[in-house]
Amino acid sequence: MSIEIQFLGAARNVTGSRYLIKTDHTQLLVDCGLYQERRLQDRNWQPFEIPPQSLSSVIISHAHIDHCGLLPKLVKEGFAGPVFATEATAEIARISLTDAGKLQEEDAAFKKKRHEREGRKTKYPEIPLYTAEDARAISPLFKTVEYSRETAVAEDITATFHNAGHVFGSASIELKIQENHRQKVIVFSGDLGNWDRPILKNPDLVNQADYVVIESTYGDRTHQDINEASLKLAEIINQTVQLGGNIVIPSFALERTQDLLFFLNRFMSEGKIPRLKVFVDSPMAISITKIFKEHPELYDRETSGWVNNGSSPFEFEGLFMSN
Ligand SMILES: [Zn+2]
Repeated sequence: MSIEIQFLGAARNVTGSRYLIKTDHTQLLVDCGLYQERRLQDRNWQPFEIPPQSLSSVIISHAHIDHCGLLPKLVKEGFAGPVFATEATAEIARISLTDAGKLQEEDAAFKKKRHEREGRKTKYPEIPLYTAEDARAISPLFKTVEYSRETAVAEDITATFHNAGHVFGSASIELKIQENHRQKVIVFSGDLGNWDRPILKNPDLVNQADYVVIESTYGDRTHQDINEASLKLAEIINQTVQLGGNIVIPSFALERTQDLLFFLNRFMSEGKIPRLKVFVDSPMAISITKIFKEHPELYDRETSGWVNNGSSPFEFEGLFMSN
C-alpha cells in the first residue's frame, strides 16, 4: 500500500492550488484552483491529469478562486462526487464561481470580437472556460462540514477542517489516511491568516502530522499589523473630509470589504472619524456580506461582543448597500 501526493498547481508559483492524493483505493483532490497569473492561464485549458469521474471526492480549503475556480470545469467534464467544504466556504464559493463564470463568458465574447476586428486567431477557441450555468451546477455537490469534526471523505481517508484564519470559512485540512494497519497524517495548511485580524478567530494550531504541505506566499515578509494600518485609514479619511472630498476604496468582495465596514463602523462609534455615508457598490460584496451576517458563530470575541450588544459590524446608520 502506498500514498502518493502529486502537486498539480501552486508549485513554483502562487495560484492554481491543486493536490492529488492517491492511495490503493482512492484518488481525491485537495483544492481545485484556477491559475490566475497571466503567463500560466493556458494551463486552465489543458486536460485534467486524471479523468474527473475517477476522483472519489474534492476537498476545498476556502472560497478564493485560486483554490476553487476550476471546480466548474471539473464538474462539466464528468466529476459528480462530493465537494467537502465548510458551510461559509460553500456559500461564498457559489457566489464567486458564478461571478467567475460570468467573467469567463464576457472575456470570451470580448476576445471573439477583438479577433474578428483584427482578423486573427489564437491557440484556444473563443469560448468560455466555463459559464455561469456550469458554475451553478456544482451547487448540489457541496457537502458541508464543521470545524474540528473528523469526517470520512473516502473509503480510507478522513478529513478534519481546522480554522485557518485567512478568510471567512477558511480551513487547513488534516487528512488521516489508513496505510496497512497504520495511519498517516498529512496536513494541508491552505492559505493561513495572521493573528488578531478583525472579525475572524485566530488560526487553530495542529499539533501533530507526518507531513505538512504549507503555503509560503508571504513567508518572507512581515506584514504591518492591520489594526495599525487601519489608523492610517482613519487619518486619510479625516484629511479628505476636511478638504471636502469623497473617498473611493477599491476592495476585494471577500474579507476586505467586511474588514473595511468593521473599521469604519468602529471609528465612527469611537468618534475617530465623523459620521459619514458609506456606500457598498458591488453586488458580489453585498451578497458575501450577507453570508458574514448569517454566520455569527465564526466571529472572534470582539465581533461577537458587538452582536451580544444587539449591534453588528455590518449595519450602521449611513450604510447603503447599492444593489
Ligand atoms: Zn486565499
